[in-house]
Amino acid sequence: MAVVARLRRAHLQAMVEHALREAPIECCGMLGKRDGIIEAVYPAKNAEASPFRFSIDAREQRRIEAEMEAAGHELAGFYHSHTGSEARPSPTDIRMMAPLFGPPYVHFVVGVADREHPVVRVFTIEGDQAFEHEYELLD
Ligand SMILES: [Zn+2]
Repeated sequence: MAVVARLRRAHLQAMVEHALREAPIECCGMLGKRDGIIEAVYPAKNAEASPFRFSIDAREQRRIEAEMEAAGHELAGFYHSHTGSEARPSPTDIRMMAPLFGPPYVHFVVGVADREHPVVRVFTIEGDQAFEHEYELLD
């Protein structure tokens, strides 16, 4: 597995906290990067308000993209949580993300089925498959 994302521990923690706060509803959000490093976590509202799937309203996605651009960030990818299943993209996630957000976009899945032991994994999505990679934590 190769490193596809670099980020500070605080940003990883922000995704985990968002996931724990919303559980059992899935949380979701977007990640901004600069110079190859994820530097901002943009929480979004799960328009599905569901424990099994998520989507970001198109208007909110545009608002976040504008904020990101104003901050000098580019879109690195997305994150969302799994609150009752393994931390890997579901067939629905893959179907939804593959058409527009294949590589180099990254997809973090935050597993909080066990709240005491959150699991964070990163994937790229291509065609009908998700490929797991590694991320590097910077302090
Ligand atoms: Zn999912």
